[in-house]
Amino acid sequence: MKQIIEDQKSFFNTHTTKNIDFRIKQLDALQAVLKDNESLLNEAIYTDFKKSEFDTYVSELALLYNDIKEAKRNIKKWSRKKRVSTNLLNFPASSYIIPEPLGVCLVIGAWNYPYQLSLAPVVAALAAGNTVVLKPSELPSKTSEVMAKLINENFDPKVFKVIEGGVSETTELLKQDFDKIFFTGSTKVGKIVYKAAAENLTPVTLEMGGKSPAFVTEDCNLKMTVKRMMWAKFLNAGQTCIAPDYVMVHEKVKEKFLELVKNEIEEEHFKFENHNYVQIINDDNFDRLAAMIKPEQVYFGGNTDIKARYIQPTILQNVSFSDSVMQEEIFGPILPVIAYTNLDKAITEVRKFPKPLSCYVFTDDKKTKQKILNEVSFGGGAINDAVMHISNPNLPFGGVGQSGIGNYHGKAGFDCFTHYKSILDKPTWLELPIKYYPHTNQKLKWIKRLMSFQ
Ligand code: NAD
Repeated sequence: MKQIIEDQKSFFNTHTTKNIDFRIKQLDALQAVLKDNESLLNEAIYTDFKKSEFDTYVSELALLYNDIKEAKRNIKKWSRKKRVSTNLLNFPASSYIIPEPLGVCLVIGAWNYPYQLSLAPVVAALAAGNTVVLKPSELPSKTSEVMAKLINENFDPKVFKVIEGGVSETTELLKQDFDKIFFTGSTKVGKIVYKAAAENLTPVTLEMGGKSPAFVTEDCNLKMTVKRMMWAKFLNAGQTCIAPDYVMVHEKVKEKFLELVKNEIEEEHFKFENHNYVQIINDDNFDRLAAMIKPEQVYFGGNTDIKARYIQPTILQNVSFSDSVMQEEIFGPILPVIAYTNLDKAITEVRKFPKPLSCYVFTDDKKTKQKILNEVSFGGGAINDAVMHISNPNLPFGGVGQSGIGNYHGKAGFDCFTHYKSILDKPTWLELPIKYYPHTNQKLKWIKRLMSFQ
């Protein structure tokens, strides 16, 4: 581990990674490795938790290909020195900002979208001219194995290396002196990473989770709301950091909403055999989720099968904020529906939780939309949709408060692996004497004047 990091540091110090063509070459290589091995990648992820080729393409590979394309298209522009104006006090001079890579970066991935969450930060790091050590999640063991094999066979370890492992390997990695740590995972482990990073004052981006609410107001297009929300919720069997965690629905439309939800789930036939549903990742998560299902609250679903690690899409009603299902992020195919009559009170309840990663507002009323956007703090979200904001590279993706520190995707990804070096560049043919001793009232008058011009 130490040797790999040392080698990456030495290589970074040769300045080779600062060359734009070199960076593009790395991105091309990653694209080729993924494209050429799609069947291997599909096989591994299906073995891990029965994720279909369709879902793997839509929610993992396509996003990576787009990230690579976007980075390649903009890399020259993003890496360019940017001129800014110079204030009068510094006349004559020019001022500019030089984007420079941070150095050797550690990326720690989560299991739920194992390819996308591991490799999207890597795309950003390589585009910005860094070297990378990637530690994918150990839970989907086949995807971790296949990433390690493909990357380590096709990349120079001085540029990009995968190190597999669980808690002990990650703990060891966190003791090393990296120039940046990018972590995706739970808030609990995020705190461990943040503490470890503080030892070396390493900058971090922390992509975590939380309880993301969905508001369904009385004036929304209910049919469309249900269609879009059910797809977003049961994609990956609810094991999505930005899936709607619970629904706040207006009492007036609650019954109709529930009825439409039931119809939609029945129509979609979320099943492994239909290739639109996945397994719960492991027995621990299965047990955790199964315990949240109280039979008396089940409006729809509730069936489970431990052998198959299957939990049916489940809708809970008559849920209160003190129920166990409302105590932690669900991260599975269970959707509690809570009715409200007063939007202010509903917002107050939502705000009692730590700031979530996402929030969704289903409404056709402009004032309601503005009110919720103004009064609820969250990472990012959508109006009359859910999850899809992640697919727009122009929207920085990240949390706030307990759900995250920092953003990535598109330009925001490049920025999070870049230091912006500010330079004041002065010629030597003129130097105003006013800042030098002896200080006089006349000089102070001039300084005040000059400093008032920006
Ligand atoms: P996790 O925190 O358990 O694991 C994440 C990574 O940390 C893994 O690589 C794991 O090996 C490592 N890790 C686990 N325990 C550790 C420890 N004690 N010390 C050091 N490293 C350790 O998270 P997870 O179960 O993989 O993912 C689920 C969580 O991640 C959910 O809370 C979800 O909301 C969040 N998530 C967030 C995003 C996002 O983009 N914001 C995306 C996916 C998942």
